[in-house]
Amino acid sequence: MTIMKSETVHRSADMVLLPVTLADIEGASARIDGCVSRTPLVRSNSLSNCAGQSVHLKLETHQPIGAFKLRGAMNAILSLDDAQRRRGLVTASTGNHGRAVAYAARELGVPATVCMSSLVPANKVDAIRALGAEVRIVGSSQDDAQEEVERLVEERGLTSIPPFDNVDVVAGQGTIGLEILEDIPDLAAVLVPLSGGGLAGGIAVAIKALRPQACLVGISMERGAAMNASIAAGRPMAVREEETLADSLGGGIGFNNRVTLALCSTLLDDVILLTEHEIAEGIRHAWHQEDLTVEGAGAVGIAAILAKKVEVSGPTAIIVSGANIDPKLHQRIIEGAEA
Ligand SMILES: *Cc1c(COP(=O)(O)O)cnc(C)c1O
Repeated sequence: MTIMKSETVHRSADMVLLPVTLADIEGASARIDGCVSRTPLVRSNSLSNCAGQSVHLKLETHQPIGAFKLRGAMNAILSLDDAQRRRGLVTASTGNHGRAVAYAARELGVPATVCMSSLVPANKVDAIRALGAEVRIVGSSQDDAQEEVERLVEERGLTSIPPFDNVDVVAGQGTIGLEILEDIPDLAAVLVPLSGGGLAGGIAVAIKALRPQACLVGISMERGAAMNASIAAGRPMAVREEETLADSLGGGIGFNNRVTLALCSTLLDDVILLTEHEIAEGIRHAWHQEDLTVEGAGAVGIAAILAKKVEVSGPTAIIVSGANIDPKLHQRIIEGAEA
């Protein structure tokens, strides 16, 4: 069970100068308006019954690329100057962030390069190419791909758009918080998928500024919860990477983390961890009860309510962060298979 301790948290937030402010998020909101979707917030009757409070789903699955990362990427690219835009962008992500950068770059007429290793599956390579990005295959690991990014930044002056540890990216993700408060002014809690912390950190800045009594709960998988370990240690911690249904939540927070660790350790009221079985239940519930195709990372808020690992005391928003799951894996899970 979660013990809500927002009293202490927002008092400490007043004293710490945080790297992202409400003004940054309001600026992002104006900047990306019309370039990303203002996503629907829908009430879930079954989850409301389960929680004993009204529970709403914020459907970032409805963004054009099927995930919220478009908000941060769009805000970061729109914040560049003309010279930076002309030289172009580069990233090493092949997941939702890579898709977001490719999509936003195409929309804005900016060239984008996505570096990836030769081990990245063909369907992911094709998906990025289909969004108009140039694909560079280098080496045989994510580290090799990241080295190529740094080389292109150095040699060609490309701009790297990081997946989470960047003020403009975090401010873009934080716009979700503004939209939730417009729709639920008496908000009591937000359940947010947590990996690098750009999503949770951004939403927390917006919500704690405008409604400090609301609780922010980050949710990760037991298998490789790097931010949870880092908050506990007070510095970036590496965790063993394991296969998980919540693949978009994998990876570390970066040893030189500048932005998101400070936000998450100051503003999150709690972090809870889920088993693979619980995440699978969330994916199944989304499909059978809510008519939604949701990837593992996007299902963790639903899963936390179903598993009764979080107790909420009033109107609650769950961030359903993404839809991009391999269709064959999705089929097997909704038919009842475990991870
Ligand atoms: C990236 C991602 C997350 C986690 O976001 P962070 O900012 O890294 O914490 C959650 N869900 C989905 C679908 C994602 O793509």
